[in-house]
Amino acid sequence: MATERTLSIIKPDATRRNLTGKVVDRLETAGLRVVAQKRLWLSQKQAEAFYAVHKERPFFGDLVKFMTSGPVVVQVLEGANAVAKNREVMGATDPKKAAPGTIRKDFAESIEANSVHGSDSPENAANEIKFFFSDTEIVG
Ligand code: ATP
Ligand code: MG
Repeated sequence: MATERTLSIIKPDATRRNLTGKVVDRLETAGLRVVAQKRLWLSQKQAEAFYAVHKERPFFGDLVKFMTSGPVVVQVLEGANAVAKNREVMGATDPKKAAPGTIRKDFAESIEANSVHGSDSPENAANEIKFFFSDTEIVG
C-alpha cells in the first residue's frame, strides 16, 4: 500500500463544540499520523478559493459563510492510502447517510456543518496541502 498524504480540516462546528481532540483521536486510531497542524480563522477570500470547485453550486454562499464562522484546524495526515482512509473514517457528506462509527455520523450537525473536510484524490490532496502549508511546516 502506498504511503500518502492528505489534507484534513476540522470545521467550525467541531471546533466550536470543543471536539478537536476527539476528531484527531478517530484519525490517529485509524492509523493516520498528523504530520502538520495549525488552527486558523479562514478569511472569506481563502474559503472561496479553497472551495472554488463548488462556486456554481446553490450552497456555495452558505458554505463560505459557515467555513468562516469560527476557527478551523487544518492538518496534513500521512499513512497507507491516506486519502481514501481519511474519507472512510469521515463518513458520507450527509451525516444521515454516514456509516455507524464514522466522524460525521457521530459528530456532524448537518450536511453543511459536517465537522470535517478531507481531500478526495491524491492530486487534490497535493494542491490542498500546498494551499495551507509550506514544505518546512510538514514534519513526518
Ligand atoms: P468536503 O469537501 O468538505 O470534504 P465532501 O467531499 O464530502 O466534503 P463536497 O461535495 O465536496 O462533499 O461538498 C463540500 C462541502 O459542502 C460539504 O462537506 C458540506 O460542508 C457542503 N455541502 C455539500 N453538499 C451540500 C448541500 N447539499 N447543502 C449544504 N451544504 C453542502
Ligand atoms: Mg469535497
